Amino acid sequence: MTDTRKRITVLGATGSIGLSTLDVIARHQQRYEVFALTGHTQLERLLQQCLQFNPRFVVVLQPDAGATLAAKLRAENCRTEVLVGIDAMVQVASASEVDIVMAAIVGAAGLRPTLAAARAGKTVLLANKETLVVAGQLFMQAVQQSGARLLPIDSEHNAIFQALPAHCDGELAAKGVAKIILTASGGPFRLLPLDKLRGVTPDQACAHPNWSMGRKISVDSASMMNKGLEVIEAHWLFNAAADQIDVLIHPQSVIQSMVSYVDGSVIAQLGNPDMRTPIAYALAYPERIDAGVPPLDLAAIATLQFEKPDMQRFRCLQLAFDCLRAGDDRSAVLNAANEVAVAAFLQQQIRFDQISDLVDATLQRLASQSLQSLEQVLAIDAQARSVATNEIGRLA
Ligand code: NAD
Ligand code: MG
Repeated sequence: MTDTRKRITVLGATGSIGLSTLDVIARHQQRYEVFALTGHTQLERLLQQCLQFNPRFVVVLQPDAGATLAAKLRAENCRTEVLVGIDAMVQVASASEVDIVMAAIVGAAGLRPTLAAARAGKTVLLANKETLVVAGQLFMQAVQQSGARLLPIDSEHNAIFQALPAHCDGELAAKGVAKIILTASGGPFRLLPLDKLRGVTPDQACAHPNWSMGRKISVDSASMMNKGLEVIEAHWLFNAAADQIDVLIHPQSVIQSMVSYVDGSVIAQLGNPDMRTPIAYALAYPERIDAGVPPLDLAAIATLQFEKPDMQRFRCLQLAFDCLRAGDDRSAVLNAANEVAVAAFLQQQIRFDQISDLVDATLQRLASQSLQSLEQVLAIDAQARSVATNEIGRLA
């Protein structure tokens, strides 16, 4: 009997999205076969994943991690082959055997393998929003040229994808779309007195009220830079201008996002805040499969609230809108500076309220340039990281 299972590479398998993806795959082993897994630091977790899913390849970044993992796999009689380095991640994202690539590395580090999957015409399940923020034009061109299928995993964009008319290839106005409405929980500090933002700790910032996520995106959610990155992501995914995108705070995270039409209709997608829902949707698209998510109990939730975001409190959101409007390399600089700032905050080198200061200062120090090639994107990313790192000293 021929094996009709879809073959999947999971980039960033050990992270929060990676775990949720493998949880859904484990429920449907007759549909999916894991071709490759990649990870960075959590070797024990990666080992267990190899033993459970038996992939052809597992990729890590560092040679010593590769050697350790290979020895452990041998001891377990597991035949998964260990590869090392970013080029190997590119290779397993674009290999001819692969049908689906889950792009779930965090940050601009995911750019090269994610872009490689798009260039190779794969079905790309995109969680790594930073790829679109730093290289939106290049990435969308690659998708169009190769005929790749791009399915958003970010819950908001997945909701919008579901609420838009079928085959809406970037013609929002022609299809009667008035606005894309991104909902946002507002994070853990929505109601904290503004002067208290100075003193919040990394653990407080990572304690999201509704979602359990990696630390970087958790801090981004607390500053609402995450929503800012998602505005830019929506721009590229749906060909939406900044004025066609609204952000609405909705603390319960039940409405995952909405599309408003010119006739007054608003179509929303609802669900429990569990990433397995968008992951299962994208894995099976256009079919539907069980995600392991409990049914939504609206009577138990009873109340859904909404409010406009306060741009004084959430300066990062304003900065992201400004960068989208300014174009050129601004979003790439914004992202690089934010990655440096979040890492510095998590290491307690800067305060939470200084994240937006650092991003703003970096944007001001670098004159705007146009972005054409991957080499230019990588150069600007590196330059912005170095400027932002210098700025940390000035803030202290
Ligand atoms: P995470 O920190 O939990 O996991 C990140 C993964 O990337 C890990 O497997 C890690 O090993 C790998 N990684 C880290 N640095 C790397 C590097 N330099 N090179 C190669 N691999 C590296 O992150 P996460 O929360 O799973 O988020 C992953 C992506 O998905 C992010 O872009 C995030 O914005 C997006 N996303 C996450 C959620 C969520 O609920 N967690 C929701 C929407 C979007
Ligand atoms: Mg999101």
